[in-house]
Amino acid sequence: RAKQEGPGKVVLFEPRMHADALARLTLNGDLQRALTLGEFRLQYQPLISLDSGRPVGVEALVRWQNPERGYVSPADFVPMAEETGLISDLGRWVLHTAGRQAAAWRRTRPELGLNVNVSGRQLTDPQFAADVERMLTECRLPPAAVTLELTESVLMSDPKTAIACLRDLQDLGVDVSIDDFGTGYSSLSYLQRLPVDELKIDRAFISRETPTKADLAVIRTIVELARTLDLRTVIEGIETADQRDAMRRLGCDLGQGYHLCRPVHPEDLLRSIDPPLVA
Ligand code: C2E
Ligand code: MG
Ligand code: MG
Ligand code: MG
Repeated sequence: RAKQEGPGKVVLFEPRMHADALARLTLNGDLQRALTLGEFRLQYQPLISLDSGRPVGVEALVRWQNPERGYVSPADFVPMAEETGLISDLGRWVLHTAGRQAAAWRRTRPELGLNVNVSGRQLTDPQFAADVERMLTECRLPPAAVTLELTESVLMSDPKTAIACLRDLQDLGVDVSIDDFGTGYSSLSYLQRLPVDELKIDRAFISRETPTKADLAVIRTIVELARTLDLRTVIEGIETADQRDAMRRLGCDLGQGYHLCRPVHPEDLLRSIDPPLVA
């Protein structure tokens, strides 16, 4: 704990804090190196139409396998990359790599769209929309095939700036999705004003194998809200057939989850969605 900073005062650190700081510095260095050395990979998880059971798109998920650290979860390193600013370079790599991959798949499966996760820092980068546009051109992807996923907290922390950034993206013709919807505290009045196309309902709402009445009531409310605002709905974290059936009955458009298909390496994607994943 830093103690009473001020003129003439000695600042003390607890050894634990020093170790934390050191660990973070090392992680930061490793992340930077990982990008240079090409240690990042993408996996892809299908988004499935709950009506037809057919895949309508894939979400790109970044993976980091480091010789010393082993597998590191994006939930751990993405926040770090956001803090240090590395997320700009990493995010650009994800966008372009996923774009090329999706364009390749679309030659045989033209119905497949691409979802890419975008951090707040990327969104507010003045170059971001131009970079998305460059990716679309280079990969010859129709803008409507691409959905950018942003979390609620990113959009709500500074709604004015977020709205301006989202407008630029919508002008390009790409879709915008609110990821992990329901976990932050969206003001409903802002939701109405946000130029978004999709709500991705957080998996916390179907965390039970067999959803309870209360779980279903919450999800139904979100789905109805989305319908009123003319937004597409995706439910994440479908792990059982019960959950899938319940979500289909509620009228949720798309589903994602281990029960439908796990995230897979790109070389396995076409095989894992063919034959169509019949619901
Ligand atoms: P997310 O975007 O909400 O992605 C969904 C996460 O849930 C993924 O975890 C996915 O593997 C996992 N998942 C999918 N189906 C199921 C299921 O049925 N049950 C359970 N328990 N989990 C399921 P993952 O890949 O570890 O990614 C975690 C988070 O890291 C993502 O959450 C996203 O916020 C972030 N992330 C991943 N890739 C990127 C990226 O390229 N850029 C940015 N900015 N963030 C990323
Ligand atoms: Mg996502
Ligand atoms: Mg649109
Ligand atoms: Mg999510």
